[in-house]
Amino acid sequence: MGTTLILSQALYSNITYLSLAILLFSCIYTTSYNKRDKELWLFFTAILLDFFSIYISQYSNKLFAQGEAVDWWVFVELLMRLGAMLFLCAYVSKLMKADSQDKIIIYGLGALGIIGIIFFLFIYPNNKMITQMHNIFPLVGFIYLTFGCLIQCNKKRNSGFVMMSMSGIFASLIMFFKFIGINYFIEVSWYLPACVYAMFSLAILMMKTDFYAKKYDDSNAEVEKSYNRIDEIIKYSPFPIIISRLSDDRLLVANTNAVKLFDIMSDELERYHLKDFFADSENRKILNERLEKERVVQDFEILVKTPMGNTPFWLLASANIIDYNYDVALYMAFQDITSRKSREALLKNQATRDPLTAIFNRRYFEEEVFKRIVDAKVNNQPFSVLMIDADHFKNVNDTYGHKTGDKVLIELAATCEKALRNDDIVARYGGEEFVVFLSGVDAQKGKIVADRLREQISEIVVYSDEGQEVRFTVSIGVSSSEVSDNIDTLIKTADEALYKAKEGGRNRVEIFSKEDLAAFDNKEAQERINNELNSRHPIFDKEENEEISLLDGIESNHIQSNNPQIETKENSYPLLGVDEEDMK
Ligand code: GH3
Ligand code: MG
Ligand code: MG
Repeated sequence: MGTTLILSQALYSNITYLSLAILLFSCIYTTSYNKRDKELWLFFTAILLDFFSIYISQYSNKLFAQGEAVDWWVFVELLMRLGAMLFLCAYVSKLMKADSQDKIIIYGLGALGIIGIIFFLFIYPNNKMITQMHNIFPLVGFIYLTFGCLIQCNKKRNSGFVMMSMSGIFASLIMFFKFIGINYFIEVSWYLPACVYAMFSLAILMMKTDFYAKKYDDSNAEVEKSYNRIDEIIKYSPFPIIISRLSDDRLLVANTNAVKLFDIMSDELERYHLKDFFADSENRKILNERLEKERVVQDFEILVKTPMGNTPFWLLASANIIDYNYDVALYMAFQDITSRKSREALLKNQATRDPLTAIFNRRYFEEEVFKRIVDAKVNNQPFSVLMIDADHFKNVNDTYGHKTGDKVLIELAATCEKALRNDDIVARYGGEEFVVFLSGVDAQKGKIVADRLREQISEIVVYSDEGQEVRFTVSIGVSSSEVSDNIDTLIKTADEALYKAKEGGRNRVEIFSKEDLAAFDNKEAQERINNELNSRHPIFDKEENEEISLLDGIESNHIQSNNPQIETKENSYPLLGVDEEDMK
């Protein structure tokens, strides 16, 4: 490659050193970030060997001019040129990742070269052959480099390799001219090596920038691909999924299932805000708070609605904050739990409602009223309890049949519910008895309400299966906060007043007043003593109570009181009776 002219003037040599330094810098810069490019050092070593061979060549020329033997210096110079060629070959072979087979060629070429040098220098000295070897080693090296880089251009589509091939062609041409003997052009052109080094530096730097540009493009493509993959997964998920942008709450993605579930237009998603899907804004607030704390929320039950409709339905949601298409977004996947929720509601209903009339049962009444009484006491508010019993209901059953009796009970319950405020509690207490809790109502007002109710009930007309008109009345007993704030006492005293109303001729309302308490307490005490004397078995008491509450109004207590057999058994240790039977 070299021309000895570069050493003839300080300026020429400085420019060449500078270009070599630039080449060194390019190699350091390129290899420092990417270990994969470390084979560049093979290339740089080749250039360096070639460059040093110029020194040796000049030195040997000087010695030759002085008439001294220069065989050994020529030997070293030729070895360096051979070395440059081999390093270039090794670089190309590394580039092409064809190490094993290329190694044989490189070692073979090296061995042949050394044999040639020794033979034509020492054994059969031949100046012409030595001059040819002097030129042919770099020529072969650069041609090999050019081909290697051209192949790489095709493979890697890297502009650095295009530049490298062009530089290789340029260097090969110089060496070719030298080889065919156009020496003048070469000898005066001291700047050619500097040009070649600069071209190689540029090629190496281009390799690096191109590599990073490609890497950047690749990673962009990869990101794009993974977004597409996520989109595909979301699209075909069996669960409804939506993604909304956090900054403006607008919808970014809704998969086919979500579009169906929320009845939205898939091509105009940006029109919808996530808040439009929440039936309960409190729900949204809780979700946001949890997301702020945990970033991922699972199994969150939300009451949602379609953006256009108002019918709420239950979903089980998992939500998390994600990066989506360079936006911070909220990802939500849903599971429809409407049927689960309605099953839960049904079970709750079954536990709290009377199956015949669909109003609350006795258990719910007692639990709820207990809480209401606590509230009323805190707020110093009065309240009343009404005990309602259908008059001569047995006659209704006997005359028109049980089915008609049921109709009467249903109508009676519905009328109570309709006539009273939402805040009042109406429940079926058992059989044809109903109980009402009136909030904020004292005994006097309670009586007015009860009378109004009694009148409304007396106007009910029910038709029997035979089409006969059935009318009926009720008697009502009223107790209030003036009497007690204990639910049991309230019910008992209301029942006592009801008894008075029955005694008084039915279809009327009686109040249990504070003054009635003394007499009532005596009666109660007397009853307790009687009960103790009867020594009812405690376990049976418990069973009996449970039976009443479980049947919720289905004449359990009633049947017992009407059934002399049970009555006798009850009074005479029924369980022990069974035990005795068993023991026999
Ligand atoms: P009184 O005016 O003294 O209350 O007389 P009554 O006939 O209403 O009272 P009694 O306790 O003698 O009879 C209650 C009747 O209610 C007996 C029972 O068969 C009937 N009953 C209780 N629960 C139901 C029910 O769910 N459906 C129907 N059809 N009848 C019921
Ligand atoms: Mg009754
Ligand atoms: Mg009755």
